[in-house]
Amino acid sequence: MTNPSLSQRDLSVLWHPCTQMKDHETFPPIPIKKGQGAWLEDFDGNRYLDAVSSWWVNLFGHCNPIINAALKDQLDTLEHVIFAGFTHESAVKLAESLIEASPPGLTRCFYADNGSAAVEVALKMSFHYWRNWGAIKKTKFIALENSYHGETLGALAVGNVPLYKETYAALLMEVITVPSPDCYHRAPGESWMDYSSRRFELMENALRDHAESVCAVIVEPLVQCAGNMRMYDPVYLQLLREACDRYHVHLIADEIAVGFGRTGTLFACEQAAISPDFMCLSKGLTGGYLPLSAVLTTDKIYRTFYDDYQKLTAFLHSHSYTGNALSCRAGLATLEIFQQQDIIAKNRILAKTMAKVAARFHDHPHVAEVRQMGMIVAIELVKNKLTREPYPWQERRGLRVYRYALSKGVLLRPLGDVIYFMPPYIITEDELRLMADVAWDGIQLVVKG
Ligand SMILES: *Cc1c(COP(=O)(O)O)cnc(C)c1O
Repeated sequence: MTNPSLSQRDLSVLWHPCTQMKDHETFPPIPIKKGQGAWLEDFDGNRYLDAVSSWWVNLFGHCNPIINAALKDQLDTLEHVIFAGFTHESAVKLAESLIEASPPGLTRCFYADNGSAAVEVALKMSFHYWRNWGAIKKTKFIALENSYHGETLGALAVGNVPLYKETYAALLMEVITVPSPDCYHRAPGESWMDYSSRRFELMENALRDHAESVCAVIVEPLVQCAGNMRMYDPVYLQLLREACDRYHVHLIADEIAVGFGRTGTLFACEQAAISPDFMCLSKGLTGGYLPLSAVLTTDKIYRTFYDDYQKLTAFLHSHSYTGNALSCRAGLATLEIFQQQDIIAKNRILAKTMAKVAARFHDHPHVAEVRQMGMIVAIELVKNKLTREPYPWQERRGLRVYRYALSKGVLLRPLGDVIYFMPPYIITEDELRLMADVAWDGIQLVVKG
């Protein structure tokens, strides 16, 4: 099977996610033959360094021997079983491990099969909790400007990236949107902490005005990843936790992208030393192998659903592949790697290397900001460094960086004009350097004309 024939066959039958398919007339999708560690290889032997962890999911490389071995074992034991009325060892062990590893107070694990579904579960559970208490006025959610929580209608409704949302506005429930604590907008000389605390006032106001009708506030802790990798200070989460308690509103932490070590701690919430009422997990949960998501919640919430069947308080939500055995086993292997190889400590060193290779971008005449949170580095490309005026989006300069980088064997996938590095944790210093060099050359090329 050669490379061109597979992409031609692809284009006659497939419809790809988040893609204007017409773009593929000039730049067909690249068929990948195999993956090894941080590298992907096509049918012509070209290799691509996976600097975006295959959409933020891959943590320990492609074809990781430990996860492979665990999956092979699981495959010969049990691939899947209905998860209502039945259970299995991998699902139980993974839930135990997640609860053990997550912030205190999260003691229940509900599985779904993708990130958006986890967000739907958390929204429905929060709403249903208040209903079980007779608080029927609580029907709304507060979300942050520039947030992203997935593509299904409920998740899209609580998101705020216009490119994904606006077309479907007529289909979406109304939410209360609060301006973001995103530190890109801080005043010159203002610290992240000062800016994020100052911005909390707007959240406080929204809670004060709407608490009676609000079930929960949903946030992406510390980094709004799909919203151009914008970042904020942990103090915001501390203030938010305290205010949610004061106003009797749940806090949903969507750790789908930031969980599993991305921000430097296993979960981003740890940096604020808070426990949310719901924590949504997916993406890195299976090390990038298989679809799975989990919603962790508290005993208090679990108990309001726990009653005689006739009371009709049960959470009657399900997905066919809930608790899939292969996915759970991949999750278990992923958590074992974290523990046995002390990944969080190793990542502290790796994050410093990332800062080092990204340092030269600070002074680039078309870079407004280089920001980092643990294992995420983002470089914000602008037309005017001083005024931060962006390039017209129609020019698609980020896309040109993407194409250039591919030609040099690096898979970067900018968000608009924000070039970011979000590599698997097994990446080496040399590979990080290659990634940064290619990004630099790509930027040089696209800022010229
Ligand atoms: C990716 C993502 C989702 C959606 O997960 P899917 O598995 O793509 O549905 C939700 N929230 C955040 C923060 C994400 O990054």
